[in-house]
Amino acid sequence: MRQVETLIIGGGISGLATAWYLNQQGNEVELWESNSRTGGKIATHCNEGFTTEQAASMVLNFRPEVTQFLNKSGLNEHKILRTPTSKRYLIHNGKLQQLPMKMAGMVFSPLWSLSGKLRLFLEPFIFKGGGEHESIADFIRRRLGNEMLDKALGAYISGTLASDPELADSYSVLPHLTALEQRYGSFTAGIFVRKILNRKTASVAEGFSFQGGMTTLVQQLTQQLNDCIHTDYKVTKISVYKKGWIIKAKTASGETSCFAKNLILSTPAPVAAELIKPINHELHQLLADIQYASLSVVHLGFHRKQIKHPVSGTGFLTPFKEKLTLNGSMWIHSLFSQRTPKDHLLLSNYLGGSRHPESIDWSNEKKINVVTEELRHLLGITGNPVWARVDSHVQALPLYHGRYTVRQHAIQRQLASMSGLYCQANYLGGVSIRDRIIRAEQLATTIAHRNGSLYGARAEYG
Ligand SMILES: Cc1cc2nc3c(=O)[nH]c(=O)nc-3n(C[C@H](O)[C@H](O)[C@H](O)COP(=O)(O)OP(=O)(O)OC[C@H]3O[C@@H](n4cnc5c(N)ncnc54)[C@H](O)[C@@H]3O)c2cc1C
Repeated sequence: MRQVETLIIGGGISGLATAWYLNQQGNEVELWESNSRTGGKIATHCNEGFTTEQAASMVLNFRPEVTQFLNKSGLNEHKILRTPTSKRYLIHNGKLQQLPMKMAGMVFSPLWSLSGKLRLFLEPFIFKGGGEHESIADFIRRRLGNEMLDKALGAYISGTLASDPELADSYSVLPHLTALEQRYGSFTAGIFVRKILNRKTASVAEGFSFQGGMTTLVQQLTQQLNDCIHTDYKVTKISVYKKGWIIKAKTASGETSCFAKNLILSTPAPVAAELIKPINHELHQLLADIQYASLSVVHLGFHRKQIKHPVSGTGFLTPFKEKLTLNGSMWIHSLFSQRTPKDHLLLSNYLGGSRHPESIDWSNEKKINVVTEELRHLLGITGNPVWARVDSHVQALPLYHGRYTVRQHAIQRQLASMSGLYCQANYLGGVSIRDRIIRAEQLATTIAHRNGSLYGARAEYG
């Protein structure tokens, strides 16, 4: 039987980035992807002059590891920074309200009541509390008060992660903030200390996409990995054999199989759960019980003349308690140039998640109509969109709901008991592309140590 040192199942950004790091470190790696293209959720579509993203529309980075990855992979040359804009909006009592980005602006903002503003200043004086099982809602309410939850962080969690802040696990979703509290006693003290200590080493925070859209990220990695990637390989079975794994897949030319010393599962959790079921029931259950949010991205194109509002800025988010159907809207024409025909605007709108899970079953026509009517009211739109596209994801994002930190630890414990098996996907350690790249480097380093390749010697296997 054919042998390979490391086999990765799934060619989304999690699998691709891991394969790229392993390859760079001189490890033998192969990646099997069930689809005819790599990228998983990430894909860019160009139609009638409108360029849209099926899922991720940009990378938000503040980590040096990601900066290094972009430099080493040559992706930095293709990077396009988002247009700097200080304008962001929030829905407040059914209307668009500009979010203050500086403390001084907040003092005068009508978004917060006087008691809400005063509550923020108490943050450094609130004692450390909570614990591993605290929800985001409880965590933010405890440290910053109700208004900050309802009007800022809650909207971010439901708008960008499709999560319910009352159910989402604070330790898993906001690891940096919870760590600040645990380490320094308060956010304010933590930010102050870190600013002094880290000023020289931290990467500057930036949001970016690539020339040609997010698809360039996966295409460049795929090109560099070339022979290591097999598309149209749907893995149907994995089994333990000697000190490694036998993997079977359906391909266009029949069934294929191989032996791998290391096996990385980079598929969504339900697929990993099914593959692991005959081998480890406990791990199967931990993976199978992960809940997913469904999401639809409704892209609408308008002629500039059709919209009264200037529509310049990042877009808006909807706090969980507001009655709008939309989770939020990204104003793509304002963030990146050359995404629309001349004098046109492109709004990518997010529908579903924990707010309206039922909307995934609506027809595309209904999704477009509902979104258009809500935007009409908010932005002063006349007529109908001149162009539209809907991308629907039944299992869009894993929800880090419930005691998710405990679940992640339990998954890691089960994996540690099975030699050479790893899970590397967006249900462990963060859903963002930034987190996926960071985790990929960490896993590749672990495997390279196991293989001995970091020290120039390759271990025997088989
Ligand atoms: C609507 C939306 C908007 C988002 N916006 C952003 C954003 O702006 N910025 C950001 O950083 N993140 C964003 N994200 C999150 C980010 O895009 C995802 O978390 C990330 O792309 C997931 O990557 P992954 O590799 O873990 O999983 P996936 O992309 O799901 O990849 C899994 C792969 O496994 C393959 N596979 C499945 N079964 C098998 C099998 N049996 N055999 C072989 N292969 C198999 C699949 O075909 C797929 O290619 C967004 C997500 C969504 C849904």
